[in-house]
Amino acid sequence: MTELTKTLELKLVEPNVHKRRKLRETREAYQHALQDAFDARCTTQTEANDVVINYDLSGYAKNALKQYVPQLTTTYNADELSEDHPVRFTNEGPQLDHKPENAIEWYVKIPHHEDYHLWMPAKSNPEQRDWLEALNVGDATMGESRLFEHEGTWYLHVTATRDVAERSEVSAEDRTPIGVDIGEASLVTVCHRDDHGSPTAPELWADEGKTVRRLRKTYFTATRRLQMRGSERITESFGDDVWNQIDDILHTVTREVVEYAESVENPVLVLEDLTYIRESMDYGEYMNRRLHGWGFAKLHAQIRYKAVEKGIPVETVNPRNTSKECHACGEVGYRPRQATFKCTNDGCWMKEYQADVNGAINIADRYRSGESHSREYTDGDDSAEDGGRLTAPQDTQADATKQETLGTYAS
Ligand SMILES: [Zn+2]
Repeated sequence: MTELTKTLELKLVEPNVHKRRKLRETREAYQHALQDAFDARCTTQTEANDVVINYDLSGYAKNALKQYVPQLTTTYNADELSEDHPVRFTNEGPQLDHKPENAIEWYVKIPHHEDYHLWMPAKSNPEQRDWLEALNVGDATMGESRLFEHEGTWYLHVTATRDVAERSEVSAEDRTPIGVDIGEASLVTVCHRDDHGSPTAPELWADEGKTVRRLRKTYFTATRRLQMRGSERITESFGDDVWNQIDDILHTVTREVVEYAESVENPVLVLEDLTYIRESMDYGEYMNRRLHGWGFAKLHAQIRYKAVEKGIPVETVNPRNTSKECHACGEVGYRPRQATFKCTNDGCWMKEYQADVNGAINIADRYRSGESHSREYTDGDDSAEDGGRLTAPQDTQADATKQETLGTYAS
């Protein structure tokens, strides 16, 4: 087992005047407390405590200062403080909440005073979605967080840690690709080819697909009715409850997908690349998937982090025509019914096939044809601190653009 640590980037979405003022108050109080404790040359937590206790800050910020100031005065030997210290909170100060039903899906709780905090919508770095999913369900641990403003925008950087298994040294060609098809009828379908190249052990999560569809429908009809009555609060708690049920199902399914992979020798899980989906699909298919994009993105993220936990690599492939081609001959066929794929090639032995399984095999085969590329295991340990000075996120602009592009699938 190895411990991975990552800094998760959350951008607070357009805080209103009131919340901006609260954030600035927190920062000012923090800066003053920090300066005071630094000037007093506090070298122990107790000494720092005596200084910072007088400030109107949450316990999480005070505790972070108690840990941080002695480091500054004893280890780093700094002469003076820079102006741009982020506000630090100890772990469990900020909290994360996920509302996939909303356009902005993530919410963070930012501690303000002792008994007062702010819940704020936040956008995440889309590359880190797997980490957020892990954190949200308790499969990753939250460490220290840092709140700062950069060019008028507020950010919260959260340190997260999780355990992952070492990956075996098997080369890419010697791995068995397992195609993972995410759909509507069957929520997830997996299949791979055996040593002789025959599709084997298909597994479909069709009942779960049915349940998720039913829950989503319940959510939309019920919330519409509740909204018409003006019961905002009931609508929200009802919505949370339904989406928690959906998320539980997704977590169960993604765990089982990874268990499936564990049962195969030298597996690699192959997913469709979300970034390709818009450009490669026809309009109807694209719209259909866009509507259910939240599930797509969540399932991907959950499979990713759970696979990495077990040391199983995850690759993505171009999804173009994976649901339309015959896995036996490559001909583009059609679906007379949702669950059935028909090959139109007269010379092909395969006339009809379960459509989702056909898709999953095609996805697995893309890996073989060298179309795959890996995004995994760029997860280096970036927790190293440099004495407290935090540079603003360098690729803020790039992230924002990416976020817009991905937002379409994630909405
Ligand atoms: Zn065929």
